[in-house]
Order: sequence, then C-alpha cells, then structure tokens
Amino acid sequence: MDERTTCVIAGGGPGGVVLGYLLARAGVAVTLLESRGDFDRRFRGDSLAPAVLDHLDRLGLAEPLLADIPHVKASTFVWSTPEKRYVLADYRDTSEKFPFYALVPQARFLPWMVERGKPYGLDVRMGARVTELLRDDGGRVVGVGYTQGGARHRLRADLVVGSDGRNSKVRQLSSLTATELNSSIDIAWMELPRRDGDPPLSGLELMSEPGQNLAFLGQGGGWQVGFTIPSDTFGELRKAGVEPLRAVLRRRAPWLGDRVDLLTDTNQLTLLPIRITKLDRWSEPGLLLIGDAAHVISPVGGNGINFAIVDAAEAANRLVGPLTAAPVDPAAVDAATAEVERVRRPRVDREQAFQVRVERSTGKRLATGRDLSPALPLRLIAAVPWLARWSARRSARALAVPAPDPRILAGSTPVR
Ligand SMILES: Cc1cc2nc3c(=O)[nH]c(=O)nc-3n(C[C@H](O)[C@H](O)[C@H](O)COP(=O)(O)OP(=O)(O)OC[C@H]3O[C@@H](n4cnc5c(N)ncnc54)[C@H](O)[C@@H]3O)c2cc1C
Repeated sequence: MDERTTCVIAGGGPGGVVLGYLLARAGVAVTLLESRGDFDRRFRGDSLAPAVLDHLDRLGLAEPLLADIPHVKASTFVWSTPEKRYVLADYRDTSEKFPFYALVPQARFLPWMVERGKPYGLDVRMGARVTELLRDDGGRVVGVGYTQGGARHRLRADLVVGSDGRNSKVRQLSSLTATELNSSIDIAWMELPRRDGDPPLSGLELMSEPGQNLAFLGQGGGWQVGFTIPSDTFGELRKAGVEPLRAVLRRRAPWLGDRVDLLTDTNQLTLLPIRITKLDRWSEPGLLLIGDAAHVISPVGGNGINFAIVDAAEAANRLVGPLTAAPVDPAAVDAATAEVERVRRPRVDREQAFQVRVERSTGKRLATGRDLSPALPLRLIAAVPWLARWSARRSARALAVPAPDPRILAGSTPVR
C-alpha cells in the first residue's frame, strides 16, 4: 500500500525546510524528503537578508536563531581596490531590528529549522532520494517514488513541491523545460582561519585588482575566500598551482600573513560553476518548483538562499488555504501554485537579468586582465552615503517577503 500525505517536499535546502516548517505550523501534513543523510554542506549561500530576518522574526524565530548559531553580521557590502574602499550598499536603513545580513552557515541553519518544524508534525526523512513522479491517468502528479536505505517507497500527496536545487531531479522528471543563460564566470572557494586583530571587514567584501575579483565573506571561525575565474577555466587554474593564488592573497590581503601558506594544494579549492537557469513554467498540475529548482540565480548579490526562502514564504501563504481544505480541491491547489509563479517570477527575472549583465562584463574584464574596480555609477553610489543606503533599500525591495498568513501564525497545536 502506498503511503499518503498532503504535501511532499523533495529537497531539504533553505527553500524546502522553510516551506516545510510554515505548512506544518499551519496544520498541513507535510513530509520532507532529503537525499543526503545530514545537512553538512560547505560554501553555500549563507547570507540571510534583513527582510528574511524580519520574516523569521514575525514567526518568533529570528532572535532564537541568532542566539543559537554563531554568525557574522554584515551591515555593508564593500568593494575595495588596492587604492580605495567603496561602500556600495549600506543596510542600516533596511530593517529596524535586523539592519544587516546575517552570515549563518546553512549546515547549522537547516537542522535548526527542521527541529522547529518537528513539534508541528513536520515529517523529515533523511537519506530519502526522489527518483520518480507518480501520475494519475490524466497525467496529474499525485506523489513521488523515492529510495531510502536501499528500499523503494511510494508516497502519494495532494501536492509535490520540488525544492531539490540547481540539478533538480523533480524538474527533470516533470514536463517543465529549463534554459541555461550563459554565465561567463565561475568561483573557486577556499577557507582560511580568522584571527583576532584581522581588519574589521564588513563580512561581505569584494577585493579587486586587474584580472582578479576576490570575494571575502565572514564565517564564524574563518574567512570564506572566493577567486573569480572565467567560466570553464578551473582546470587551468589547477594546472598553474597555488603560487599565483597565494600571490593575489599576499597583494590584496597582506594581513593574512603566514596563513596564505595554508593554501598548499589546489585540491583545497571547491569549484562553484555559476549558473543562471530559467524555466518555461514553475508548475504543472499537482507539482510546484521553488528555489534553485525553479530558477538558479548566481551568487552575485549573495541572494540564492534568500530567493529560495521568499519563494517558500509566498508558496506557504498561497497554499495554506487549499491544503487545509477538506477535501483538498486539486483545482484550488493548481490555482495557488500558478499564483506563486505570477507573484515571484518578475522579481526573479529582474535579478537574473541584472546578474547576466554583471557577469558578462566581469567575465570580459577577467579574461583580458583588465581593471576590475567598480564602474563609475558604483563609485558615485559609494561617494554619497545616502546613495549607498538607497542602493541597499532597492535590493531589499527585490526580497520583500509577504507577512505570514494568520493561519500560519496561529499555528497548530504542536504534536510533541
Ligand atoms: C555547491 C553549491 C555552492 C553554492 N555556493 C554559493 C555561494 O557561494 N554563494 C551563494 O550565494 N550561493 C551559493 N549557492 C547557491 C545557494 O546555496 C542556493 O541558491 C540556495 O541554497 C538555494 O536553496 P534551495 O533550497 O533552492 O536548494 P539547495 O540549497 O540546493 O537544496 C536542495 C536540496 O535538495 C536535495 N536533493 C537533491 N536532489 C534530491 C532528490 N532527488 N531527492 C531529495 N532531495 C534531493 C539536496 O541534497 C539539497 O539538500 C551554492 C549552491 C551549490 C549547489
């Protein structure tokens, strides 16, 4: 006999766990299937935006989250050249309580959210890989097939949500079509320890020199350092060995001192091939995609995690009515999933268009070893403090999160 639930979510990244939490809290029976056995992951988008922290606060979660998990608070985004530091965004006006990006490692954030959902009945199955979409005679998606511990299972549901990331299996199994917009850059990440006495960097910094853009992100105990490279040149970078990379670090961050010597092997680098992916649609009858599964955005702006969480917030609000109705009306579910795309898509499209422009120009300048300092409009923003605040408010608008539906706030009685 197949098992049954109301909503099955494939993928326990930020989009999946936040949606699972919200629906479970509203009293919807939700099962979250995560293919990996744990939430350990490095070098992911870890930067929770002020608007997302405000959203978590409305749910009573932001303060406990920030109290429980060591994090870095970044109240500015800074781009520095060898000559000058430019503050390109100043987040201090973007939220009353949380006027900063909080760099909270996903490896800590995800299990923390899951634990908050379990008392509401959120059913989380780890090591559970979705391999199949179940369909009825009319072609409607009515559940998933998955493997766990070598066994095959079938789980029927009124709605399947694919939040299984950039290489989404659910998307491959669906009728939805993805198109890759060419990106011209990749990033090679590594980590270096942080020491007392390091300069007070913002936590969200870009350090450029001709031919290189170094990303410097604050992590609890260290610095996440990213070398920007033209697409598909990671092999060449590895062949050249660590010395050219050490030289960049010595020039751009001389205060690292002997820590530069900790980079001994290019195997210490993790490649993030940057992708920007668009879908023709985000849903079909019985199925909705959110987060990277619906739209891979690039790390430019550091908002992949935030776009996934805002999708989850929008989806939860639209779905709570249809999924708590008895019986569930499939037409109402499909109308709600179409609404999620109608509301979210324009913002995602604008972000992706912006990223393509930035990456093309960066890719060209990297490939030709040209100056990578901020262009004139960005330098103007940095020169006028209120413009840096305006630029932060503008990026905050792209991440506007809807207030949680009252049925989510009321919450069901925790089952344990
Ligand atoms: C390797 C990597 C590095 C990244 N680095 C950065 C970065 O440096 N900066 C930045 O801003 N963004 C980065 N991102 C992007 C950022 O992490 C994502 O935008 C964000 O996590 C999106 O959240 P999501 O919930 O949509 O998907 P994801 O976080 O990708 O989560 C998807 C989840 O689905 C699970 N899954 C996959 N297939 C299945 C299946 N068949 N069945 C069940 N579960 C499945 C995966 O194990 C994963 O836990 C990175 C992404 C990746 C993949």
